[in-house]
Amino acid sequence: MIVQPWARVGRASDRGRVRTRNEDSCHVGRSLFVVADGMGGHAAGEVASRIAVGAMAEIADRADLTVADIVEQVHRANRRVLSSAARHPEQTGMGTTLAGLAVVTVGGSAHWAAFNVGDSRIYRFLDGHLHQVSVDHSEVGELVESGALTVEEAQHHPSRHVVTRIVGRDPLAPVDTWVFPPYPGERFVLCTDGLTNELDLPHIRIILESNPDPQTAAAILVQEAVRAGGRDNVTVVVVASAEGSSAATIDEDTTPRVRDVGGRT
Ligand code: MG
Repeated sequence: MIVQPWARVGRASDRGRVRTRNEDSCHVGRSLFVVADGMGGHAAGEVASRIAVGAMAEIADRADLTVADIVEQVHRANRRVLSSAARHPEQTGMGTTLAGLAVVTVGGSAHWAAFNVGDSRIYRFLDGHLHQVSVDHSEVGELVESGALTVEEAQHHPSRHVVTRIVGRDPLAPVDTWVFPPYPGERFVLCTDGLTNELDLPHIRIILESNPDPQTAAAILVQEAVRAGGRDNVTVVVVASAEGSSAATIDEDTTPRVRDVGGRT
């Protein structure tokens, strides 16, 4: 039997103060959570993010997910975005980011799997420390990953919005995944760039620290991003792990770690 390592989930989304529509989408299932940031003219970004999130929602309540299932579903999402664009000329070129977190089964125990295409992000928050789990698929993100730019420099870099991987392209670029064991007391923030372009990491950390309830934290993060400028749509999902009981699922020694989530600040 798989123990759900999460206890509570909160979510919030806002159009912001400048955009006329909200082209972000998100979904919270029983075992998969995802945010998406759509792009494309004539409201097509909204269509792309909704199609992609809708595809992920189809597997979001499954209790037996594997990383392969998630990657396969992202490919299915990609095909659906492409086929909608092929049928509707006004949707040509539309696409979306996808960033999510899911409970997967590894060696019979529940693990987290984070997955990402694009520049929406997944952060892990534990003991006052906020680490970015995902790597941005953007020109600037690649420079940070290679060490050429610091996170702080990237925050204000002129080409920080240039996304290098997107759902809605043929062929689909590789889907990045990270698998790691659950840990009591940890929380995760899934967000579109409307959050991180407005709030720096210390600000996000303070909000998480002072708002242990995930729904309150998600609502305040979005509200503060809108207050700070709201130049883009902003969407946040906060996942809080179970305290104590999930310790039974932790098995550090046998866990495949694609990436050490503590290794990036
Ligand atoms: Mg955005």
